[in-house]
Amino acid sequence: MLGQGLFDGMPERLYACTPTRLATWRDCPRRYRFTYLDRPQPPKGPPWAHTSIGAATHVALAQWFALPSRARTPQRGADLVRRNWLRDGFRDDDQSRAARGRAAGWVEEYLAKVDPAREPVGVEKAVSAQTATLVLSGRADRIDAADDGSLVVVDYKTGRHVPTADDAASSLALAVYAVGARRTMRRPCTRVELHHLPTGTVAVAEHTRASLDAHVATAEALGAGAAGADDAFAAGRTGDDVFPPAPGRHCSWCDYRRHCPQGREAAPPMQPWSGLAVPDAPEPDETDETETQSDEVRP
Ligand code: SF4
Repeated sequence: MLGQGLFDGMPERLYACTPTRLATWRDCPRRYRFTYLDRPQPPKGPPWAHTSIGAATHVALAQWFALPSRARTPQRGADLVRRNWLRDGFRDDDQSRAARGRAAGWVEEYLAKVDPAREPVGVEKAVSAQTATLVLSGRADRIDAADDGSLVVVDYKTGRHVPTADDAASSLALAVYAVGARRTMRRPCTRVELHHLPTGTVAVAEHTRASLDAHVATAEALGAGAAGADDAFAAGRTGDDVFPPAPGRHCSWCDYRRHCPQGREAAPPMQPWSGLAVPDAPEPDETDETETQSDEVRP
């Protein structure tokens, strides 16, 4: 159990985790078990089209910043979306092509407002920070330098929901990246931004020491619960007393709903392409669409 050293004076064991792991534990302990503990891992449902869009746009933007600045044109960004396109999850080729055209257009319009000569401090940057009980790690989409030299965490969004300043301020993942960026690069970092590619919206939050401390405290509380559950699992306690389901509308988007009667009861199934960012599509669960893109290693 976290917090129990073997002997007096020995350092306590730190729980290593990402924001996605903590959010999965928070949102549904059963899903946490499926995702991180059960081995072999239960088979997932089919891939989601909205995840394919997110992956292609994120990779395209990362590759764009790897180009020499003179080659960083908005059109090149659109080309990179097309080159990295994934057809997984789409109903058919027509739907995939239409989505590819939309996503290429988002990136082209977004990059038209980006100064190609301004180098980010990091792209797909791994950051980490140690707290009293955790080793937090993650991968920020981009880290910029503000005019005063401080760091700015940038996270791309491709879902239907247009992010707000409150979303940026309340994001545990962004706060963890800010703390990790500060520790990893030894520069101040309080500003976090959500860049919504479909609309060009930039949602900004300026953290304070107190607000970052509050997020770290939340992470530590979640980490304590998850670490205890890990230990229980290792001791053979794998049932619902430790890993209860948390059914809700998010179950529509859960990769493991086929293994979960309560989740299937709680929310209707979705087609793999139901989360596409078009006006008549339902909204996927935000955790599925965003944090997994942000702090897991992408190809
Ligand atoms: S279907 Fe719902 S309750 Fe079941 S594991 Fe997934 S998120 Fe949890």
